[in-house]
Amino acid sequence: MRYSALALAWNAVTGNRNWTPAWRDAAPRESYDVLVIGGGGHGLATAYYLAKEHGIANVAVLEKSWIGSGNAGRNTTIIRSNYLMQGNIPFYEWSMRLWESLEKDLNYNAMVSQRGVLNLCHSDVQRDAFARRGNAMRLNGVDADLLDRDQVRALVPYLDFDSARFPIHGGLMQRRGGTARHDAVVWGYARGADRRGVDIVQNCEVTGIRRENGRVTGVETTRGAVGAGKVALAVAGSSSRLAAMAGLRLPIESHVLQAFVSEGIKPLVHHVVTFGAGHFYISQSDKGGLVFGGDIDGYNSYAQRGNLPTVEDVCEGGMAMMPLIGRLRIVRSWGGLMDMSMDGSPIIDRTPVQGLYLNTGWCYGGFKATPASGWCFAHLIARDEPHPVAAAYRLDRFTTGALIDERGAGAQPNLH
Ligand SMILES: Cc1cc2nc3c(=O)[nH]c(=O)nc-3n(C[C@H](O)[C@H](O)[C@H](O)COP(=O)(O)OP(=O)(O)OC[C@H]3O[C@@H](n4cnc5c(N)ncnc54)[C@H](O)[C@@H]3O)c2cc1C
Repeated sequence: MRYSALALAWNAVTGNRNWTPAWRDAAPRESYDVLVIGGGGHGLATAYYLAKEHGIANVAVLEKSWIGSGNAGRNTTIIRSNYLMQGNIPFYEWSMRLWESLEKDLNYNAMVSQRGVLNLCHSDVQRDAFARRGNAMRLNGVDADLLDRDQVRALVPYLDFDSARFPIHGGLMQRRGGTARHDAVVWGYARGADRRGVDIVQNCEVTGIRRENGRVTGVETTRGAVGAGKVALAVAGSSSRLAAMAGLRLPIESHVLQAFVSEGIKPLVHHVVTFGAGHFYISQSDKGGLVFGGDIDGYNSYAQRGNLPTVEDVCEGGMAMMPLIGRLRIVRSWGGLMDMSMDGSPIIDRTPVQGLYLNTGWCYGGFKATPASGWCFAHLIARDEPHPVAAAYRLDRFTTGALIDERGAGAQPNLH
């Protein structure tokens, strides 16, 4: 069923009895051409583009829980393409372009809101670094504005500009950045994939990866064995566990990242704003709650919940940047399971097991990557060669040394 103003009006006058389910509740079949493991944004986008762009629709997405129950439904919804490194800029800008046409493409309201992403700087040195980043972005056709202190104040007057420790010197603004509604993105891709014949199988945990003579032949699941010519892993924070089922050890650590929502207030935060002297980012949802987060919890874990010291750390960052936040109550917080790579950049690649493909290492930033990740992963699976904009995301870069170290912090997983 196509969604339109007419469909809305017709269903309103007929008592809303004629809406059809957005996707079928499929049971797993005996075998498929491609199995995508993980019903988060990346897995569903991959299945959607496999069917739409490559005509490969004999595909199932196997999700151990309900679709969107992982990071896809737990993130702080920020989308942007303000990257510095050559390996990253074209990929994230391609993602931004896909975001800009996503709702039309999917015929689904994903609430893509290009409200602008503003990174604050708190010293002259940091402003120089932002000027460099902005120049790199512009040279690659990405929008970027370096703002002085007064320009920043005009946009976000509620911040603490004269803090003794972290005075605000200016900021780097990407106006095309913003937010999108995370679960709507999942549902939109699920519906689009389902309409093209993809089976979306929920409550189906993959428990083993079948191989014969170095080639993948299918998977074991809690709902029986399923055969496949190709198996694609898009399980984010569970990547190491799944890869281990095929005898692989990944350069990935799993960490908890928490998010927080305050009580609803009148419209105040009209952009996404990030603190430059610590790790804190904030936006305001359409319901009025302030949505914010900060650093990962900093220890390896597969739990989807975090600890109090990080709550305190995130709130300290918020108080330093925006003291008024101290008057608000936090009404919800939760944790997600992050796939932290050793250089902070992702992996979209083949693996040493023939027919087994890997999509992981999204760290803090995989939500904004969802469209391009699906697009490039589908390209890799269909053609067995990397898509040009994801050409740098090779698994062997950790042995060749061709790291994409966006933060310049070296090989460690605690990246911003
Ligand atoms: C608190 C938080 C805030 C974030 N904020 C942002 C942000 O503002 N902007 C941004 O760009 N990124 C953000 N991220 C990161 C982003 O959410 C992730 O990088 C991205 O969602 C990962 O891709 P995904 O959606 O496919 O993952 P997921 O949604 O985690 O999908 C993986 C799926 O695999 C399933 N799975 C696992 N094991 C199995 C198995 N054995 N069998 C079958 N299925 C399995 C899981 O249940 C899960 O549904 C944030 C993450 C968190 C946790």
